[in-house]
Amino acid sequence: MWCLVTDISANSLKKRKLVAVMGGTFDPVHHGHLRSALELKQLLNLDQLRLLPCHQPTHRGVPRTQAEQRLQMLRLAVADEPSLYIDDREIRLDQPSYSVYSLQSLKAELGDSVTLFWVLGVDSFASFTRWHRWQEILQLANLIILTRPGFTLGENTPEQKLWQANRADCAELEKADCGKIYALQLPSQLEISATFIRDQLQQGCSVRYLLPDAVLNYIQQQQLYG
Ligand code: ATP
Repeated sequence: MWCLVTDISANSLKKRKLVAVMGGTFDPVHHGHLRSALELKQLLNLDQLRLLPCHQPTHRGVPRTQAEQRLQMLRLAVADEPSLYIDDREIRLDQPSYSVYSLQSLKAELGDSVTLFWVLGVDSFASFTRWHRWQEILQLANLIILTRPGFTLGENTPEQKLWQANRADCAELEKADCGKIYALQLPSQLEISATFIRDQLQQGCSVRYLLPDAVLNYIQQQQLYG
């Protein structure tokens, strides 16, 4: 079993300013994203958790909706939740989205006293060594990998070897500015995906309770995913 269930004490990571970034397509945002983000922020006692929608993803197909619509759904989803912050820097750049450039831009903006964490589900981490300049991502941030029901990391893959070489426990993470990989099983473990939501909508089925009502209302108003 490669993942860890942790019981992190609330103040264990409280020395530097800690900012985590969860990148994604968010097509659409759902409770799997939102609950994971909130639990992570609380567990690691982060100063900020940013949801960062990509403009044009580079590791997957074209999103079903416009970047501005995905951004609007995110804004609606967190409108009543001050602890989650939407970072629209990739949407503002009308070009393919590369995580390494977003992290560089964040580092320049927030300064060296901030420790950055790049948050991703294990399904996304499974292709990490094919990401553009992935080694530089590890020079800018620590990685936090979230387990996801139905997904495991393949044995002997480059990503599994990378994780084994750089894995950290909470105490090590506390000391590292970058380069460490922390695998975490959050309490809620919601088996929700945007793919499932899009499929359900395509079939004319209800997706209520899988995502916030405000997002569902927007999908209906804009007639998305039909
Ligand atoms: P799709 O089904 O279209 O691939 P998705 O539901 O995986 O979409 P993304 O926008 O691709 O959503 O995900 C953004 C990030 O959030 C990724 O790192 C992904 O692994 C993670 N993530 C998505 N859903 C969950 C979930 N239910 N639990 C934990 N992490 C998740």
